[in-house]
Amino acid sequence: MATMESLIGLVNRIQRACTVLGDYGGGDNTFSSLWEALPSVAVVGGQSSGKSSVLESIVGRDFLPRGSGIVTRRPLVLQLHKTEEGSQEYAEFLHLPRRKFTDFALVRKEIQDETDRITGKTKQISPVPIHLSIYSPNVVNLTLIDLPGLTKVAVEGQSDSIVQDIESMVRSYVEKPNSIILAISPANQDIATSDAIKLARDVDPAGDRTFGVLTKLDLMDKGTNAIDVLEGRSYRLQHPWVGVVNRSQADINKNVDMILARRKEREYFATSPDYGHLASKMGSEYLAKLLSKHLETVIRARIPSITSLINKSIDELESELDHLGRPIAVDAGAQLYTILELCRAFDRIFKEHLDGGRPGGDRIYGVFDNQLPAALRKLPFDRHLSLQNVRKVVSEADGYQPHLIAPEQGYRRLIEGALNYFRGPSEASVDAVHFVLKELVRKSIGETQELKRFPTLQAEIAGAANEALERFREDSKKTVIRLVDMESSYLTVDFFRRLPQEVEKAGNPAASANDRYTEGHFRRIGSNVSSYVGMVSETLKNTIPKAVVYCQVREAKQSLLNHFYTQIGKKEGKQLSQLLDEDPALMERRQQCAKRLELYKAARDEVDSVSWVR
Ligand code: GDP
Ligand code: MG
Repeated sequence: MATMESLIGLVNRIQRACTVLGDYGGGDNTFSSLWEALPSVAVVGGQSSGKSSVLESIVGRDFLPRGSGIVTRRPLVLQLHKTEEGSQEYAEFLHLPRRKFTDFALVRKEIQDETDRITGKTKQISPVPIHLSIYSPNVVNLTLIDLPGLTKVAVEGQSDSIVQDIESMVRSYVEKPNSIILAISPANQDIATSDAIKLARDVDPAGDRTFGVLTKLDLMDKGTNAIDVLEGRSYRLQHPWVGVVNRSQADINKNVDMILARRKEREYFATSPDYGHLASKMGSEYLAKLLSKHLETVIRARIPSITSLINKSIDELESELDHLGRPIAVDAGAQLYTILELCRAFDRIFKEHLDGGRPGGDRIYGVFDNQLPAALRKLPFDRHLSLQNVRKVVSEADGYQPHLIAPEQGYRRLIEGALNYFRGPSEASVDAVHFVLKELVRKSIGETQELKRFPTLQAEIAGAANEALERFREDSKKTVIRLVDMESSYLTVDFFRRLPQEVEKAGNPAASANDRYTEGHFRRIGSNVSSYVGMVSETLKNTIPKAVVYCQVREAKQSLLNHFYTQIGKKEGKQLSQLLDEDPALMERRQQCAKRLELYKAARDEVDSVSWVR
């Protein structure tokens, strides 16, 4: 018994989850697939046949508007939840969450008011369901749907289409294979004219989900009885017919309570000369048990498909959540952790760009391989070492006393002047690599999927990375300038030692002194300086890339966000959550998703646990 209750209770809870989450469509054919996999009981019958009365007696409480004429004008989805013995009975409407009704007269009033809210105080109907849950130790776990009664003609105040409208609405509830049909026919009418049976036969020709209920047995003409119907001879169904005796209008007016009504019903069958032999299989209580039993069988049979539907929904929700990103933690520690994770994700991608997993790092090599050598080649050494300039520089350096052997000062000035030109291409290499790195930061941020939802953090990371790159650039510039300066601060002595000594070569000091101011002399000086500068250029072509990689690329790989990490480590919870602020619409979607996921997971656990208990 416990298993049966837990099974039906489980379905009830899933159904409740579906309704709370709006995963059902009501009468408009848009039920979700999960809702459709779960059985529910719909009450069908002609107007005033006793549908609401049957529902009430199954529930064991008065709470439904009843009477003559069209009383039920919107579907009422009634979920019964069995609670622990001794706990307080209460009702709750989906449209009034958090308001507990303990007075069932107020429940009835709310159903009336809520009906009127959509239809007005008219005789119109609406397919928009009202959802009501009842929590009580005295109910069985069941989902029941009370529907407007089928009619034959439109009465004053109703549109001509009302008869058809009601039928379509009722049909939309009972044609689903998950629907168990409680077909209510009054015993004081010929069963051949029953609207309930007519519709039930239409949607369930085999009769395996139809339960025939015969009401108003007490109102049958004297001398007639319903034995033929109740014993299945008039109209055969897979399930046995159940006869009930509800409260009459007079009983209702006299406020006969449910307990008394049930006792009277029991007495009616026990003492009835016609139905005495069927007494144990008649009445509202028996009907409730019969329904529960049937529900259990149906649910058992559906467990595999329910499980797979739940699993499918969970998979879908998980992947949607992955897409939306997981919810952000609320405590500062976890937020800090999230931020660091996001930074690391970005950093990983940035490194991949540099190391070659992703494109872009090769452009740095391009700077060293093309840009720098080209810039070095373009330096205006021809002009600097023109005959004219060499003569000018050397003469100026000599002053009033021309040099004797070699123009030491002239050489130095010419070389210094030439080496100064190397500053330009060196700094340009630093800048070029800086811009490649900056571009890679921009790209990597765009490619960090996890960061997409956090525009603020994105901007902060970009800002911090660019600041760091700026610092690396400064440092790199200082270093390459230093390399250039080092070249001019100490010249390679060897180079000059190896130059053929003009004096010795000439062999004649006097002649060579004369020669000293000839064109050939200056040309030789120019060409010596030029080959020295060429040698330095070769050296710098190799050392500048080393300096740039050391100061910028290697630093970017190792410590791009280090400064940022220390900064956020000092931040308060509020500042951290500001970094993690995201699009409110996205947040809302995720919350919905997460809530749904939680419910489905709970449902899966429950299904798992009940499906093993047999
Ligand atoms: P619905 O329109 O199908 O929901 O029917 P209701 O439950 O509102 O019942 C219509 C009227 O029939 C009410 O006045 C009930 O008191 C009365 N009624 C329903 N069932 C029985 C029954 O078994 N015996 C008697 N005497 N009256 C009943
Ligand atoms: Mg009714």
